[in-house]
Amino acid sequence: MPGILLNGASWFKSMGTEKSTGFGIFSLSGHVANPGQFEAPLGITMRQLIDLAGGIRKGHQLKFWTPGGSSTPIFTEAHLDIPLDFDSVAAAGSMLGTRALQVFDETVSVVRAVARWTDFYAHESCGKCTPCREGTWWMRQIMERLEHGQGLPGDIEKLDDICDNILGRSFCALGDAATSPITSAIKHFRGEFEAGMHTPAAELFPPEKSVLFQVKEAAKA
Ligand code: SF4
Repeated sequence: MPGILLNGASWFKSMGTEKSTGFGIFSLSGHVANPGQFEAPLGITMRQLIDLAGGIRKGHQLKFWTPGGSSTPIFTEAHLDIPLDFDSVAAAGSMLGTRALQVFDETVSVVRAVARWTDFYAHESCGKCTPCREGTWWMRQIMERLEHGQGLPGDIEKLDDICDNILGRSFCALGDAATSPITSAIKHFRGEFEAGMHTPAAELFPPEKSVLFQVKEAAKA
C-alpha cells in the first residue's frame, strides 16, 4: 500500500503481466533452503522463486509443489517455468490461489501428503451438503487404505468418481478444494497410488527422511 500511494497506480501496473499486474507476496514453505515470504512481480516463475529461497534443501530434488495451497492442483518439475500469474497458472491446469507455494522433495510420499490434506478437508466439511459431507468421508477411508498399502481393486477409479461427484456440486469452495489434490496427484503420480494396493507409503518413503525439524529429546520430555 505505501508503494502504491507514493508512486501511483501506473507504477504498480508497470510490474507483473498484462492481465495480472503488480506484485504480491509468494509464500514458500517446505523443502527449500530458506522458506519465507517473497515479494515479487506476478509472472515470476517457480524456478526463480526457488532460487530466491536458496534452492531445494541440500542433496535433494524437487518432486511436486502447490501453486496456491493444498486446494490447488499440484504441479511438478515440468511446471517450473510457468509464469505465476492468474491466467498462465489456470491454462496449465491449476490455480494461483493464495500463492502458498508448498515444496516437496523426492523423500515425500504423494499418497501420504494427499491423505493428510484429505483428513483436513473431511474434518473441515461442515456437513451442509451431501456430496462434500459423504464424499470427503469416503475419500478419507480410501486414502487411508492406500497409505497403509491396503488399497482395494478399483480404489483409484472410485476416488476419481467421488471427486467428479463433488466438483461443481457442493455449496461452497471447500468441496471443490478437497478434490484438487486427489485428482492432480493421480494424474501425475498414478504409480504411487497403484503401489498403495500392496505397499505402505511409510515403507516406500520413510517419513523420517522428510522431516525438517528434529525434536530434541529434552524438549519432548
Ligand atoms: S461444500 Fe461447503 S457447505 Fe457443503 S458440506 Fe462442504 S464445507 Fe459444508
